[in-house]
Amino acid sequence: MSKFLKAEYKELSPYVPGEQPKDRAYVKLNTNESPFPPSPFALKLLRESAEGNNLYPDPEYTAIRNVAAEKLGVGKENVLFTNGSDEALSFAYAAYCAGKTAVFADITYGFYEVFADFYGAKKKIIPLKKDFTLCVNDYKNAGGTVFIANPNAPTGLLLTTEEIETVLKGNPDNVVVVDEAYIDFGGQSAVPLIKKYDNLIVVRTFSKSRSLAGIRLGMAIADEKLIKDLKLVKYSTNPYNVSGAGVYAGIGALLDEEYFLFTCAKIIANREKMKKELARQGFSVTDSAANFVFAKRDGISGEKLYLALKEKGVLVRYFNKRGIEDYVRITVGNDEEVNALLTATGEIVKEKL
Ligand SMILES: *Cc1c(COP(=O)(O)O)cnc(C)c1O
Repeated sequence: MSKFLKAEYKELSPYVPGEQPKDRAYVKLNTNESPFPPSPFALKLLRESAEGNNLYPDPEYTAIRNVAAEKLGVGKENVLFTNGSDEALSFAYAAYCAGKTAVFADITYGFYEVFADFYGAKKKIIPLKKDFTLCVNDYKNAGGTVFIANPNAPTGLLLTTEEIETVLKGNPDNVVVVDEAYIDFGGQSAVPLIKKYDNLIVVRTFSKSRSLAGIRLGMAIADEKLIKDLKLVKYSTNPYNVSGAGVYAGIGALLDEEYFLFTCAKIIANREKMKKELARQGFSVTDSAANFVFAKRDGISGEKLYLALKEKGVLVRYFNKRGIEDYVRITVGNDEEVNALLTATGEIVKEKL
């Protein structure tokens, strides 16, 4: 770091993205991307949009907001598009947490803590139960802006809409941000609740279920007043926060419902196969409702399992963090990738016995 860096930033430990090594070809199951390419219709619109790139995009992103609002059954004034959902989270931290308090679980998406530190928010960290379940009663009058990933990462565990509603009712004076990055893989969305609760922000991404991680597209869905708060941050930092290309790809992905349903169903089927086979090989596996499984096996630490899999050409993620150090998080791949993973874990289990 240089001597010029703002003093408060010198102590930050920023988010560490999953590795993208190039030393050999890996079966890449470490960053929860979709194994499937973008929808053909998304690609068609993306190509057609290329020539318009000498112009700035519409900063209100009206075209894609109209499509999304109709799909979600909300008004277009309830939707804000962002550069990946991380930016929607960042806007929420800037709007509600800077100099105040952010509330989240001890085991959840690592970025919540990074944002809290970056924006100078106090952190109220609420432990999950031993089995990784989240007790919604622990969040009554939480004393700050609440961030909940549903399904949670990296455990994959899902809360019901009723449980989300309990958190909303228990926090009339706090904003509650529900991060639905993985909701399309089997959960019920909280989006309809935005009509009933003026303290709810639902955050969605096109990076997982919509096969567009490289495009960087996300959205916030909320009561119009909350959207105006987030827009204030957007227009004060980066008015053209989404690329023109991103808009076209996003519209294509939203309109190609058939491809979306097909790829999600395939990922869900492969997830269930992975859970079953890993359990058969002696792993403990959480009941993930996401596009990854969270697994451990007695006698092998998460780091060892990660290294053994990497040696066999399969990349997964492990977390050097108390409580989950024995686990690895494995993204659900296509058939070929799932078979490669299961062959590798099978071999590792045999070698250790
Ligand atoms: C992947 C992920 C995100 C961020 O996705 P973007 O690529 O920034 O849209 C946000 N929250 C959770 C829980 C995630 O897993």
